[in-house]
Amino acid sequence: MKNDFSTNESWSLKMDEVDDLKRFKERFYLIEDAIYMDGNSLGLMSVDAENSLLRVVKEWKTLGINGWMGGDTPWFYYPEMLAGRLAGLIGAEKDEVMVHSSTTVNLHLLLATFYRPEGKRTKILMDNLTFPSDRYAVESFMKTKGYNPEDHLVIFESADGKTLDENAISEAMNEEIAVILLPSVLYRSGQLLDMKSLTEKAHEKGILIGFDCAHSIGAVPHRFKEYGPDFAFWCNYKYVNNGPGGTGGFYINRRHFDREVGLAGWYGVEKEKQFDLENEFHQNHSAGGWQIGTSHMLSMAPLEGSLKLYEEAGALRLRDKSLKLTAYMMFLIEELLSPYGFSIATPKEEKRRGGHVALEHEDAVRINEALKEKGVVPDFRPPNIIRLAPVPLYTSYHDVWKVVSKVKEIYEKGEYKNYDKKRGTVA
Ligand SMILES: *Cc1c(COP(=O)(O)O)cnc(C)c1O
Repeated sequence: MKNDFSTNESWSLKMDEVDDLKRFKERFYLIEDAIYMDGNSLGLMSVDAENSLLRVVKEWKTLGINGWMGGDTPWFYYPEMLAGRLAGLIGAEKDEVMVHSSTTVNLHLLLATFYRPEGKRTKILMDNLTFPSDRYAVESFMKTKGYNPEDHLVIFESADGKTLDENAISEAMNEEIAVILLPSVLYRSGQLLDMKSLTEKAHEKGILIGFDCAHSIGAVPHRFKEYGPDFAFWCNYKYVNNGPGGTGGFYINRRHFDREVGLAGWYGVEKEKQFDLENEFHQNHSAGGWQIGTSHMLSMAPLEGSLKLYEEAGALRLRDKSLKLTAYMMFLIEELLSPYGFSIATPKEEKRRGGHVALEHEDAVRINEALKEKGVVPDFRPPNIIRLAPVPLYTSYHDVWKVVSKVKEIYEKGEYKNYDKKRGTVA
C-alpha cells in the first residue's frame, strides 16, 4: 500500500473514488468552506446524532416524566442501551461499560474504588506526557486519602518528550505501586500504547491498571476482553461525535463487579430496587453500579445516532481507512514538507499510532494560525505541535492532500509571518 502513494493530486481523487466509506461524509454537517481536521478534539455533528437528540427532546416535550418508562428506549434504561453498543468499540462485555458523566469525573470515581493504599502499596504510577487533567485528578484524590503526591505519585518520564517506552514503564512497576494509570493514545504525539502487554506486566506484579481512552475510543478498536485491564474511562465527544461536553463513559472489568463502589449514589442501586428508596445501598453488580445520579439524557442522546454510523461502517473498516489516511498524510509531509524543517512526532508503525498525526515545527503556533485562515481546522498543542486528524467517517484523501499542500504554501510564501507567536485561548 505504502509504495502506491503519490504526491499528485489526481492520486487522492482516485483513492476517493474507490473508497467504500466515502458515502458517510454525507451523513455529517460539514463546516462550510472548511476542511475539518479536529475530530480528535470535537467530532462533527451527524444527521443521525441530531435526529436521536431531537427525538429525546420531543419525548420530553410530549411525555414529561413518563419518558422514563415511555420513551422510544425508556430513559431509565437508556444508558445501559448505549453502553451495550459502545462496548463493541472497545471489545468489552455489555455490562462492563457505562455511559456516565465526564472523563475527569469518571476518573475520580474510579480512583475512589481502585486506589486503596495498603501496607507498602500506596503509590500510583503515571507518565509525564498524559493529559494534565488526569494528573490533577490523581494528585487531588491522593490528598483526600491523606497521602502526599510528592511521596506517593511516581511519574514515569518520557525519554524523548513525545513517546513512552512500554518496557521501560514495566521496569518502574514494583511492589509499592497500587495503581497504574496510562493513556491508550497520547493526546499530543498520537502514540498508541500496547495495552495488552502493559496489563500483563502490571498483573504479574499484582498492580491494578487503568487506561484513559479519550484519544482512542472510536479511532482504534480495542479488545478489552483479551487485554483484561481493570478499568478505563473516556469522553465520547472526540472521535465518537457525541457533541460538545457530551456524556463520557467508563469500563470496569467484571472481575471487579463485587468491589464496593467508592463514590456511591442512588443510580448505582440494582435497577429493580432503585425506586424502593431503601436506606441500604443494594449495589448493582455490573458497571451500572458505579453510576452516581440521574442520567444526562440530553448529553447522551446524540450518541445513539452516532453509534449507528459505527455499526454501519464497521469499526475495523474505519480503522483501516484511518491508518491509510494517516500514512498518506505522513508520506506527503515527508515528501513535501521535510525540507522546510517539519517533522512528525507520531510513531510510524501502524500498531503504535492512533487517529491523528502530530506535525512538528518550531513555528507551529503561527503556521497553525495561518492554516485556520486558509480554511483548515487543526489545533495546536504546545510547544511545537499541530495536530491533524483525518477522521475516516468524514475526511477524504483529497482533503488530506489539500491540507498538506496548504501547509507547504503557507511556508513557501512566508504567510505565517503575519501572525503572533501566541496561541489562542482555546487552541
Ligand atoms: C479530552 C481529554 C480529556 C477531557 O476530560 P473532560 O473531563 O472530558 O474534560 C481527558 N483526558 C484525555 C486524555 C483527553 O484527551
